[in-house]
Amino acid sequence: MQRGDIGEINHQDLSTKVHSMVVSKYTDAVDTVNSRFRGRKVLAGCVMIRGNDMSTAETIAVAAGTKCIHGGHMRHDGRAVNDMHAEILVRRALKRFLLYQIDLVNQDKPSIMVKTNDDKKPKYRVAPDVRLHMFISSPPCGDSRIFVASNNKEGEETTGDDNPDRQNRGQLRVKMETGQGTLPVNKTKPGDSAQSWEGIMSGDRYLNMSCCDKVARWAVLGFQGSLLSTLMEPVYISSYIIGSMFNQAHIYRGVYGRLYHIDSLRSDIKSPYRHHCPEIIGTVTPEMRNTVKPPNHAVLWQKVDDSVEILDFKTGMLMENGVSTVCKNGLFGEFRKRATEIPDSYEDCKKTATMYQELKIKVYAGLETCGFGGWVSKPVEQDMFTYQPEPEKVEMVVEVEAKNVPQMAPPQMSPAAEDPNKPMITTPN
Ligand SMILES: [Zn+2]
Repeated sequence: MQRGDIGEINHQDLSTKVHSMVVSKYTDAVDTVNSRFRGRKVLAGCVMIRGNDMSTAETIAVAAGTKCIHGGHMRHDGRAVNDMHAEILVRRALKRFLLYQIDLVNQDKPSIMVKTNDDKKPKYRVAPDVRLHMFISSPPCGDSRIFVASNNKEGEETTGDDNPDRQNRGQLRVKMETGQGTLPVNKTKPGDSAQSWEGIMSGDRYLNMSCCDKVARWAVLGFQGSLLSTLMEPVYISSYIIGSMFNQAHIYRGVYGRLYHIDSLRSDIKSPYRHHCPEIIGTVTPEMRNTVKPPNHAVLWQKVDDSVEILDFKTGMLMENGVSTVCKNGLFGEFRKRATEIPDSYEDCKKTATMYQELKIKVYAGLETCGFGGWVSKPVEQDMFTYQPEPEKVEMVVEVEAKNVPQMAPPQMSPAAEDPNKPMITTPN
């Protein structure tokens, strides 16, 4: 198995660098808003490095979050972020970053994007020396984490799996609404694989695939998603750097092993797609097991505009009732500016990515054939919207009274941190 593409960089140096850059960017970013939002459970971030030159390392996005929107807050207009787990928010920010890189290459400015041959579609690809490294403070939730949690003691790292043949290994899993933890898809109710809008609005649990399953999908389809696949070749994460609970067997299986061993899929993956095997590296100093109650907000910082967003986990919108720049409608708007001759609706636009969609179906079929369970999809109504521009944003200057801002160190949360009435949000220009 050929793994990774991180070149000559030493794994320990890489993990130490990426870990420290993500942690310090998170702290700095939150402090520009209000340090009371520092408390966090899972932290993720992406650092870009050119070639083997660690001095080129740049943080692209960092996020903290562990929850999904409450089903009752689903929206028809693409203005809510459904899944606010840290690595999922970082991935959405990366898509926005890539769209901005397309502008730069078109303006002949320094960009990580290069144009492919003019006659060819898609028109762009990421330069071959660009490596994207994702730090996650613990293994992505689902198959990579579930069996480690019960085995590894605090700070301990293990490599193997005592029961690799257990039937529950590799199962696709779902996270549930605003709670924590995951359930195997075969333990959900019949019919859950295609969730219905009416069902969720009448009280059915709103299910999201686990982060581990989503990360596994990126290892074949790339993390750019269907829309961007019509503009650019797929992009893969070069390495995942795991901050705690590192167990090689479980992480490898969850993140790419399951798909890698589906023989039927091998012949279905055609260029520019590939079966990418990222490097998986533990940090030199594991993060301490974080047992604090997860906060009711998620935090996202993006390099694109040096903005910090505080998202309300119940609604998937900003705590001050605005919308996130990485919600479906926001990213769709950015995509539309750079695409030509595309349908109006988000759903129809996604369907134009035929190669991506066909491969996605084969990935799901392969997983199901191998007994890992069926991929649970969101209600189709969520994608049946057309782009609506957001009202002009007004720069907010919020004076923070020192007496109202308890200074605190992570990971403890003060009760004030859960008060949704006093968020301080910076607004990008
Ligand atoms: Zn997760």
